[in-house]
Amino acid sequence: IDKVKHPYLTSLNAAQLKAVTAAPEIPLQILAGPGSGKTRVLTSRVAYLVQRHDHRPHEIVAVTFTNKASKEMKKRLQVLLGEKQADSLVLGTFHATCAKYLRRYAQLIDLPNNFVIADAEDCKKIMSTLLKLRKETLDESRMTLKEGAVLSEISKAKAKEESPDQMAIRAAQDPSSSTSTLAIIAELYAEYEATLRESNSLDFDDLLVFGLRLFRTAPRVLESCKHILVDEFQDTNITQYELMKCFAKAHGGVSVVGDPDQSIYGWRSAEIENLNKMADDFPGTQAIYLEKNYRSTGSILSAAHAIVSQDRGRIQKSLFTSHPKSTPVTLKVFSTPVIEASFIAWEIKRLIAYSGGTLNYGDFAILLRYNALSRVIESALQKDSIPNRIVGGHKFFERMEIKDLLAYLQLADNPDFTPAFVRVVNTPKRSIGDKSVSDLLNAAKSMKISPMELSERIIDGEPLPAGLKAGIKKNLGTFVGAVRKLRRAAEKGSSVADLIRLIIEKTGYEEYLRTSQPDFDSRWENVQELISYSVIVAEEQTRISVGDSLDDGFIPANSAAVEAIVNRAQAEHQVKTEARLHPLFRRQSSSSETSRSRSRSTSVSKGKSKTINGNDGVIEILSSDEEDIDAKPKRPVEIRQIKEEITAEMVDDLTKASENMTPLAFFLQTSMLSTDTEGGEDDKDKPKVTITTVHAAKGLEWPVVFIPAVEQGTYPSYRCTEAHEIAEERRLLYVAMTRAQNFLTMSYCQFRMMGGEENDKEASEFVGMVNRHQPGLLSTNLPDIDLAVRRYVSTMLARPHPNEDEAKDMIMKHVRAAPPISTWDAPEPRDKYSNRFARREVTKATRAAEYWA
Ligand code: ATP
Ligand code: MG
Repeated sequence: IDKVKHPYLTSLNAAQLKAVTAAPEIPLQILAGPGSGKTRVLTSRVAYLVQRHDHRPHEIVAVTFTNKASKEMKKRLQVLLGEKQADSLVLGTFHATCAKYLRRYAQLIDLPNNFVIADAEDCKKIMSTLLKLRKETLDESRMTLKEGAVLSEISKAKAKEESPDQMAIRAAQDPSSSTSTLAIIAELYAEYEATLRESNSLDFDDLLVFGLRLFRTAPRVLESCKHILVDEFQDTNITQYELMKCFAKAHGGVSVVGDPDQSIYGWRSAEIENLNKMADDFPGTQAIYLEKNYRSTGSILSAAHAIVSQDRGRIQKSLFTSHPKSTPVTLKVFSTPVIEASFIAWEIKRLIAYSGGTLNYGDFAILLRYNALSRVIESALQKDSIPNRIVGGHKFFERMEIKDLLAYLQLADNPDFTPAFVRVVNTPKRSIGDKSVSDLLNAAKSMKISPMELSERIIDGEPLPAGLKAGIKKNLGTFVGAVRKLRRAAEKGSSVADLIRLIIEKTGYEEYLRTSQPDFDSRWENVQELISYSVIVAEEQTRISVGDSLDDGFIPANSAAVEAIVNRAQAEHQVKTEARLHPLFRRQSSSSETSRSRSRSTSVSKGKSKTINGNDGVIEILSSDEEDIDAKPKRPVEIRQIKEEITAEMVDDLTKASENMTPLAFFLQTSMLSTDTEGGEDDKDKPKVTITTVHAAKGLEWPVVFIPAVEQGTYPSYRCTEAHEIAEERRLLYVAMTRAQNFLTMSYCQFRMMGGEENDKEASEFVGMVNRHQPGLLSTNLPDIDLAVRRYVSTMLARPHPNEDEAKDMIMKHVRAAPPISTWDAPEPRDKYSNRFARREVTKATRAAEYWA
């Protein structure tokens, strides 16, 4: 083999080389563990097919699991083949590839090729209409089927190529009690398909189903396809497997890579059986095993192996690394998630500082079992100004369900806040269309009242303003009722957790999420996390009003000074005012916080109340002047820096006065501050810490990986009970651990809140098992940073680099510039109040204080 002609072959080991250079007509199955170069082999094989076997780029179809992965593969191939050739490869996910062919050839299966792709939202709309129709015409009013459930059943059917008729037959044959439900779903399935066709659209699963139909009816459209390559083969479903067969039919060229130990999509109809099927369907399939891991240190591999090998049904595979054992894998225990998160932030800073530039933020990933875990992590990183990005999702406070619930709370706190009104007046759906909402807004505007107020007046029987339809009164009823109940509860000082629960109860929010969102579980976890968060914020408020000691970062103060400020504000604004005091007392306000309050002071200029904002506290003065119609009541008019005026004693008074702030107002303020994202769009290319779910991290790698919440109930998830589900959870932890190249830190907490309830937690049974049988494999000590970074640098030096000398120089320069380690101490995050024992202390202290008073 001419390595001079194909320089990328020089860096491959013997087994990899064998796989890359195997004759194109031999069906290949490359089975190997994480980090063994499967993806690299696949990419090199594409280049080799083009260069050595004269395949034209458009004759090669390479399928990856995510769009992100296909982009990475393309980048690499642009280097190997040049841009022009790389761009004409057929490269993408199964969905994207099918869409490409359908656009061109859909007419061959009587489908117009200008079809629209219906997203999840569209599909839900279609299904809810169908369900409504059935209830009306067939008198199935007692039917409890919801669109989410029906759609997921249909999706499962499509993943295994089951038609509506076949589903109906299955329903007829199934003697179980759910038969009738399945029969109805089969009918809905047929109607749903008809609707999609009428509107000339395909849903996501259809892309695969119709792609398959196209390739089977008109195999000649694939004539040009000489070779199909599939990455992450262990997670393909039946339809995808059949697609692969179609692609391979014309010329027989097929190469797949996969790892049964990393199969983590069983819950989405992936079929691990496809590996065996392939050997049957493609006689002469050759299996190639790669055993050398290039990604991770020895310690990381042993720890990961100790986890995955607990599955006794698993086929043993060997995997070794030539990297040294290096820094041990760390397993830390913390009392609460807040401490866990601040530890992660601290550790990131520590490694970066000491590595003197060899590590940057882009080298770090925090992998989460589920989305809701991100809230605490985001907030800790934000506090330490660590740039981060959430992959494959929104930041916690930008998630739909969180914004909905906050909007209700905002309305309860301030009925004049129109954005919140607009957001939730028709959420959950109450037949108040966009037109009605804009009518309401216009009417309210001309009456110079808020739309919420107008809505309440309508419900109270005031005549409808011109331009509003009579039906609106009926539809507004539940909304106004809910907001009023909420407001009343808030005024009585209900806890925010209770207020959120009240919203859910009064608006049917849980049901709404369940029926309208395919990823209900994840969204519901976010809702529970918001409740937990509110409990923590409430504790924070209690802590402030209990008046804690200096060393907690709070300063005592003096009432005369506050009064002086209030008086002056009254005089200057010539309005009658009342004072409401906001406690924002962090003494160590970071520079970002300072700039935040500064930007605020310019943004609010006129209004009716007044907020005075100092570095250490906020005083909000609310006006009650009724003549000033321009001003919205209870909104700040002006915020000034009065830093020099704030003395320690003043803040103490604020502290006491903060008891007057309702829990709701305090909560909203605290959450709004956490939504403030720094930096904006212009720092897009700057390296950032990645926060992602394990599922979305498949195939990727980072020098430093953190896995928080390695607890029972998380790994395995509380949702998994059956043995095969638990085995998949174990593999999930395995996938997470094997993303790490050099440093892996897992952690768990003794307490974690779910839905506002604090639960005792213990380490995941998976790591528990390792600790029992291989004590010492997971270290509880933090790595000696000096040694760890030296080892990191030496593995970096061992890795191939396009310009080795330059790399060495760069790294050594940074190492020499590294700061002395003596300045680093372990963090002692002060979070004792979210610890249950400490909470008891606070309660005791409060009681004592009350007694003495
Ligand atoms: P996963 O199962 O997680 O998808 P994988 O088997 O696809 O892993 P790759 O991502 O291809 O593994 O490779 C892991 C790392 O090892 C990459 O950084 C890759 O560049 C490197 N690598 C692979 N083979 C070699 C080699 N022969 N020499 C040097 N580095 C290699
Ligand atoms: Mg891979």
